[in-house]
Formats: sequence, C-alpha cells, structure tokens
Amino acid sequence: MEETLKILVVDDDEVDRMAVRRALLNAGVLIELSEVGTCSEAIIKVKKTSYDCVFLDYRLPDGDGLTLIFQLRAANIKFPLVVLTGQSDEQVAVELMKAGATDYLSKSRVSSETLAQVLRNAMRVYRAEMQAEQAMQQLRESNKILVQKNKELEEQRQQIQEQNIKLLEASQLKSKFLATISHELRTPMNAIIGFSQFLLRPKYGQLSNQQRDMVERILNNGKHLLALLNEVLDFSKIESGQLNLKPQMYDISTVIHSTVAEIASLAEMKSLSLEVIVNLDNPIVYNDPLRLRQILMNLLSNAIKFTKQGGVYIKVEEVGKDRIAILVSDTGIGIDSNEIDNIFEVFRQIDQAINREYPGTGLGLAIVKALVSMMSGQISVESNLGSGSTFRIEIPRQISFTKEQLEEGTLKDSFFDQKTSL
Ligand code: ADP
Repeated sequence: MEETLKILVVDDDEVDRMAVRRALLNAGVLIELSEVGTCSEAIIKVKKTSYDCVFLDYRLPDGDGLTLIFQLRAANIKFPLVVLTGQSDEQVAVELMKAGATDYLSKSRVSSETLAQVLRNAMRVYRAEMQAEQAMQQLRESNKILVQKNKELEEQRQQIQEQNIKLLEASQLKSKFLATISHELRTPMNAIIGFSQFLLRPKYGQLSNQQRDMVERILNNGKHLLALLNEVLDFSKIESGQLNLKPQMYDISTVIHSTVAEIASLAEMKSLSLEVIVNLDNPIVYNDPLRLRQILMNLLSNAIKFTKQGGVYIKVEEVGKDRIAILVSDTGIGIDSNEIDNIFEVFRQIDQAINREYPGTGLGLAIVKALVSMMSGQISVESNLGSGSTFRIEIPRQISFTKEQLEEGTLKDSFFDQKTSL
C-alpha cells in the first residue's frame, strides 16, 4: 500500500487509540490519521470526509459499535468499517457483520501485522464492492439506454407500419385507377378498330390507295394500343389480386400450335424461322388456356422482337408425369448477365431510352412471371449476349386452385368430372 490512507479511529480510550496508531505506523502504512472518541463525533466526521477505513471501538460513551454501524450504513457510508471488540464474542461478531461491518478484530489481537492484514482485506473488499457497484451502475445505465432505444425503435416500427399501410392504400388506388382508365380506354379503342375494319370492307365503298393505307395504319395502331391497354389492365388486376385463373381440361399442344400460328406472320415479316416441337406422351392438362396463351404470346413476341436473324424455337416436354416444361429459344440479341435478374421487374427494360429500338411497355415479363407463379410454376432464363436467349417455364400438369375459386362453382364440373382422364 503505497498511497497515503485516510484512517479514522473511533475510540474513547486514549491508550487504545495510541495502540492502533502505533501498530499502523509500525506496519509501514502511510496514513493520515484522525481520531474521535464518540459516536456523534464519528458521524459528523464521516459525513464530511471520505475515509479509506474506519476502526471503531465496540463500546463507546454514547452508544455501541453495532448501533453506530447501522447508523453509518443507513447514512449511505460505503467505506470499510472495522470493529475492534473488547472480547472475542462470536455472537457479537455475527451481529456486527450482519449490520454491515467489513471486519472485526479483538483488541487483544491488535498488532502491526494483524491490523495491516485487516486493513488490506477491508480495502480489497471495499474496492471490489465499489467496482461491482460501478459495473451495476453502468449496467443500469445501459439498460436504461436500451429501454429508451427499444421505445424509439418501437415508435419507428409503428411509423413504418403506418406508412406501409398508406403506401399500400396508395398503390391499391393507383392499380384501381389504372384498371379503370385502361378499361374505359378499351371501349373507344374497340370502336376505332371496328370502324377501321368496316371501312376496309369493299361493301362500304371503294377507298383510294392512299385512303386504304391510312385506314390500315389506324387499324394497326389501334390494335397495338389495345394490346398495350390490355397489358396495363392485366397488370393492375394482378397487382390488386383481382385476376383469377379459369382452369379447364384441354390439349396443350393445340393451344401451343394455335398461338404459334397466330404469331407466325410476325416471324415471317422478319424472315425468321419458327419451329415447334411438342414432345408429350399425354398432352392433356388442367389449366387456364387463355392465360397460357398469353404467357406464350409474350415470350414469343419478345423472342421475335429481339431477334434480327436466325429463328425462334419452341419445345414442349414432360418433366416426370406431373409437370410440363415449355422452352422458348431465340437467336437474338441476348441479355447481359447483370440484367438477367431485373428483366422480370415491372417497367424494366434493358434499353430504357425513349427512342429505343425495341418498343414495349416493360410489363410483359412481369405479367408472365405473375401468371406462372399463380399456376404454381417457375420461370427461368439462360442467355448469352449476342447469341440468344432461352426462357423456360415449368408448370404442373394440373394446377391447384383455392377454396374460394372452388366455391365460385367455376371449377367443380370441369375438374371433378374429368379428373380421371388426366
Ligand atoms: P417489353 O415490353 O420491353 O418487351 P418485357 O417485360 O416483355 O417488356 O421484357 C423486359 C425486357 O427484357 C425487355 O425490354 C428486354 O430488354 C428484355 N428481354 C425480354 N425478352 C428478351 C429476349 N427474348 N431477348 C432479349 N431481351 C429480352
């Protein structure tokens, strides 16, 4: 112990005080010693000064050591209190320790060694207690901070939840708006298409070449616009969960051949070959033929759109008994590997420029992906930039449907009556 220790000795007997003083000095301890003779003086002292240790007599003129210890501890005095007892009474010692004494020593055993030993122990205990207390205090503070942070996080979570609800409402409103507007636009668009078709019929009068050319342009643009409107309408329906599949039993090879026939003229116009291989032992599936046609149409029109030379190939095969894979390959521009994960996102087009070479809404693949997922299927793509792409969808032969769809009664007859022939 190198530092100077502040020690208080509480004893009314001058001889005893001297014995303690001498013992401490002989022990080689640097001390700054204060001495008092009564309990009341001791209380005044310790309230003013912080001591490293207090040695107190058990018997004092205005009270006993036990009461003094109670009073000091009650006054939040934390430093070591060592009682010097007149007799070695075990029961008194236990009471003293219970009251908060750090240690006790019989006066008959006071010597330099015993006092130095008791002092060392008392201070070690005190320091350990102080460290524990400090650690506890830090823990309490950290806990308080954590509780506060938790509260803030909870408030933020609630705010985010509220914002999410608002965003969801806004998104639903947007989808509803898109659905209404595209639906409303379809009516005049159908009229434009219908009347242009009428005008092109010879029984409504002969048109000059220039007039015919103009009406044909109106018709083609009208059809194109109607296709775009239909995409927007479908997408908004999918987003708002209003699009239901209407499954039925049918021959998938028929739907594939008829869809390819519908789009063949586009491939011809670009001198692209268009080949179909349907390799199925059993072509009967239970699915929504219109939506399957829509998936194929999207994949095929993309394949033709993004291919300048070569061709487009469709392959249909069984994956086990219960699943069917449809592969649409092309020898077109291909897709950069960095972009491949993005192309299924809405409005995502690799070429985002207004004046881009390939027109489109950027909704086609998002709709395809959503439809395939509604059919419990998967879609994947493999592509090499500059040499072509293969889109592969895999769907169950027999799509499952929700209880609600079943209750609508649209499926019961078609499915259960024919299930055995699947
Ligand atoms: P878009 O209306 O632009 O065709 P899609 O959602 O159908 O929108 O496709 C998104 C983007 O994915 C396209 O703009 C194109 O960049 C890329 N893409 C789709 N199919 C092909 C393909 N067969 N070959 C190359 N790129 C393709």
